[in-house]
Amino acid sequence: MERIKTDILIIGAGAAGLFAALHLPRELDVVVVDKGKLGGGGSSPWAQGGVAAALGPDDSPDLHAADTLRVAAGHGDVSAVTVLCSEAPECVMELAELGCDFARNEDGSLHLAREGGQSVARSVHSDDATGAAIMSTLRDKARDRVTRIEGSCLQLCVVGGRCTGGWVLTEDGLVEVAARSTVLATGGIGALFTSTTNPVGATGDGQVLAWEAGAGLADIEFVQFHPTALALGDSHQRLLLTEALRGAGAHVVDSEGRRFLFEHHSDGELAPRDVVARAIASRHSWLDCRHIDPALLEEEFPNVLAGVRTYGLDLIKDLVPVQPAAHYFMGGIQTDLDGRSSIPRLYAIGECSNTGVHGANRLASNSLAEALVFGRRAAKAIAGQRMGPTKGLAAAPPLQEVDIDVDAGWVRLREVCSGALGIQRDPKVMASVAGALEDLAILPLTGSTRAAELRAGAILVRLMARVALLRTESRGGHHRTDYPSPDPDWAGVRLRVSRS
Ligand SMILES: Cc1cc2nc3c(=O)[nH]c(=O)nc-3n(C[C@H](O)[C@H](O)[C@H](O)COP(=O)(O)OP(=O)(O)OC[C@H]3O[C@@H](n4cnc5c(N)ncnc54)[C@H](O)[C@@H]3O)c2cc1C
Repeated sequence: MERIKTDILIIGAGAAGLFAALHLPRELDVVVVDKGKLGGGGSSPWAQGGVAAALGPDDSPDLHAADTLRVAAGHGDVSAVTVLCSEAPECVMELAELGCDFARNEDGSLHLAREGGQSVARSVHSDDATGAAIMSTLRDKARDRVTRIEGSCLQLCVVGGRCTGGWVLTEDGLVEVAARSTVLATGGIGALFTSTTNPVGATGDGQVLAWEAGAGLADIEFVQFHPTALALGDSHQRLLLTEALRGAGAHVVDSEGRRFLFEHHSDGELAPRDVVARAIASRHSWLDCRHIDPALLEEEFPNVLAGVRTYGLDLIKDLVPVQPAAHYFMGGIQTDLDGRSSIPRLYAIGECSNTGVHGANRLASNSLAEALVFGRRAAKAIAGQRMGPTKGLAAAPPLQEVDIDVDAGWVRLREVCSGALGIQRDPKVMASVAGALEDLAILPLTGSTRAAELRAGAILVRLMARVALLRTESRGGHHRTDYPSPDPDWAGVRLRVSRS
């Protein structure tokens, strides 16, 4: 088995992982592991609408914080939100200085788009391909700063209570990476659902790596469903129709052409995502952009327009069917304000982490902001800590041969997950998850990344169902049929699970 020693191991090369890498001191050796094509996997390159930062003349970090907390449905962590909103502008300006091609106004200032839940325009964007622009900049700048390994981290190592690295499955077999500090930046879990906007690798690996190592997870009952994913095609991956379209004036209508969202919330199309998603899920719904200036649509949303055209429809001329799809995970590896997990020398940043910023419901464009702000903070915390020696790893996990139909396992996992943890949650169905996925959750590690993802997904979905059953109320991205309203006794109560 190949053995590598490094100062810092970063698992996940999305916006969080690469922005953190750029903020580590140059004298440190940094290894970045990613199971997709480096910088091309994960959700970051797919982000459309923007990155939220209080940069407009009518905006302020306080207003951004107030919006974030309001949308978080009484569950946001005020300290984390304050950090996010006060540091996001600096991170965005840093990206602009690194050369990120954000859209500009004629006077050269950054153009800001308005999305759901934002009381003013606040999303800095690069037309409708913001994530691609950010990732192209970060990949370019990180290229000569890090050693890259293509492979999937299968297990972390904890020696003497500290994280000392992990084992990575590559094309050439298992590689042991011993590190002074390890950073999980592995993204979300959307691919565990039958219908998602996320890439196929968003399978919750990092959350399970951390949990198996003994770290705490929090808020894992809260999943965000994006209200407007294109309801066409056979694939479980759905094309996202960015919320910025509704910010630009798009309507959501029912089969009679009626705008029905105002019956659910006074902000109509720009109401918080959980409200809009539940309303859209309750009937056949269409996005109507036909009244918007075609030139504006072509200029600001070229990628979404092109994506919809591949399905034979045109946003400029046609009503386009939409339904919600799993989009973002508010829960994750619980961290402090510098990305520290409950295990020394193990950090978590970006979507796999849980800083408490999003509460029970994420405000539009706050996730890229979180990835940047807390990625940078974790890097600074790592730089400021005493490095200590690189410790060895324990014995590598054995890889076994198992006779299992992985594809059939995935179909089952997604059906169970969506049935139990979707937009409306039924207690009996949630209670059946543990038994329905037991065989997948106890699979041994094999030499297959897809089987490892399946195993991780099953472990995580079982944990999520257990926690979701405990929260006997509805709040944000957790909506129960038997407890359909928020319960003030649950406000601010954060459920945490850990193995130790
Ligand atoms: C279609 C779409 C549009 C979006 N639009 C916006 C938007 O406009 N604004 C916004 O703020 N947010 C948006 N989001 C959400 C946002 O993109 C993500 O929350 C954010 O990019 C997450 O960044 P990350 O670095 O934490 O994770 P990711 O970018 O998902 O990166 C995680 C990386 O970890 C790797 N990985 C995972 N597990 C392993 C493992 N076991 N071993 C090795 N590598 C591993 C993956 O391959 C991946 O490259 C959008 C999401 C989607 C899907």
